Amino acid sequence: MAVFRVAIVGAGPAGIFVADLLRNSERSFEVSIDLFDQLPAPYGLVRYGVAPDHPRIKGIVNSLRQVIDDDEIRLLGNVCYGRDITLTDLKRHYHAVIFTTGATKDARLTIQGADLPGSFGAGSFVSWYDGHPDVPRDWSLNHKAVAVIGNGNVALDVTRMLARRVNELATTEMPKSILDQFERSQVTDIHVIGRRGPLQVKFTPLELRELGELPDVDILLDENDFVSDEASELAKATNKQTQIIDRVFTAWRSREPIGANRRIHFHFHSKPIEIFGANQVEGVRLERTEPDGEGGARGTGRTLDLPVDAVYSAIGYFGTELPDIPFDRLRGVIPNRAGRAIDDSDQRVHGVYASGWIKRGPVGLIGATKSDAIETVQSLLSDQADWWTPSDPSPDSVTSLLKDRGVKFTTLEGWHRLDEYEIGLGAREGRQRVKVIPREQMVEISNNV
Ligand code: NAP
Repeated sequence: MAVFRVAIVGAGPAGIFVADLLRNSERSFEVSIDLFDQLPAPYGLVRYGVAPDHPRIKGIVNSLRQVIDDDEIRLLGNVCYGRDITLTDLKRHYHAVIFTTGATKDARLTIQGADLPGSFGAGSFVSWYDGHPDVPRDWSLNHKAVAVIGNGNVALDVTRMLARRVNELATTEMPKSILDQFERSQVTDIHVIGRRGPLQVKFTPLELRELGELPDVDILLDENDFVSDEASELAKATNKQTQIIDRVFTAWRSREPIGANRRIHFHFHSKPIEIFGANQVEGVRLERTEPDGEGGARGTGRTLDLPVDAVYSAIGYFGTELPDIPFDRLRGVIPNRAGRAIDDSDQRVHGVYASGWIKRGPVGLIGATKSDAIETVQSLLSDQADWWTPSDPSPDSVTSLLKDRGVKFTTLEGWHRLDEYEIGLGAREGRQRVKVIPREQMVEISNNV
């Protein structure tokens, strides 16, 4: 039977869902899948984006692991597309490629002062506390008052992590070096800033409610922010999520502060228009907004200066452009129709596909990526006539090429070694796992046969 060789670039949930569907698809040929990742370990944003105090969500790795453990799938980690392997290489060795590289950069806040020292992208902070090997390791939490801009789940993650005491984090997979920084944290007040109203937030109810359960934390709301308008009433009447969110805020509004050591202040209808400070962040200027009746908000011209020592913008993620692959610079995605890449002239780029956040942008929970995968795999399988014709499709030719180039790639067996090593580190301290951070150490443990 003919063998269809597919490269998937990105071993996060999007790539693994695609691989799973491909291996289980009805077809008249065999498939052989190489799953590449630029990191030495798989699982993408589940390992390096989901907050460490959310083991339930991290638990999704159990089902992802069942997929990558399959014989039809070969994991090749620590391989950077565009540097270690190029599009020309892929065309020589595969029939098609699917990019599932996600969206890992912070969307840029474009207001004045956004580049001042003390102004951070939330994604960088997340990567730091999740032990990503490629971000600077010396994150300082020596700010007392912090603004978190955005009303999505990343803003909630950042707020919760800043509000937690180190003893609440000590059982997670965070290495000691990160826990030490949390122990030294000076944070007392976290200001969560949303440019629209409390019923237009993008928080999910479960994650919002969790904030109210943090020990020694007061949640402070401003009654002036709870102005009713037609769009909010309609959302409340028709949307279950909005109803629950409304109930959570209503309960918090009647809660008496307990004089806690840390406080979370919500500021709705507050659009950040400037971050100010002489040499470093000293505050954020907010313009008061009002509901426009359609779920949006319009500025009122009234401003307020909120003194803070640091700003974390959690206003969404953005995809990274890949060499030789079309890219939509406005949306941060690979332009595509049903997962088929298209170029600037709206023409199909044969053999090139996309799935997950690099296909549709950084929205939706992990499970939403599955429907993307279904569409992309259907497109791929129905395009057989357009696939590439590789001159050397043998699996060994790819590993030989990487070896010739001196790429220290990691494999599934290597990942099992690293996984067991991390679990062993955790066991010594009664934890499920302790992560290894430096890339060289991850590779060394993985490849230490
Ligand atoms: P998001 O859900 O799109 O939220 C972005 C927030 O930033 C929105 O409140 C948006 O306001 C605001 N914003 C955008 N541009 C802004 C600007 N210039 N000034 C002020 N505010 C601005 O993005 P996210 O929080 O990065 O999350 C990405 C995806 O990952 C979401 O689907 C999320 O649910 C998911 N996620 C899930 C979890 C979990 O399940 N625990 C954890 C983390 C992330 P507007 O609404 O007004 O545009």
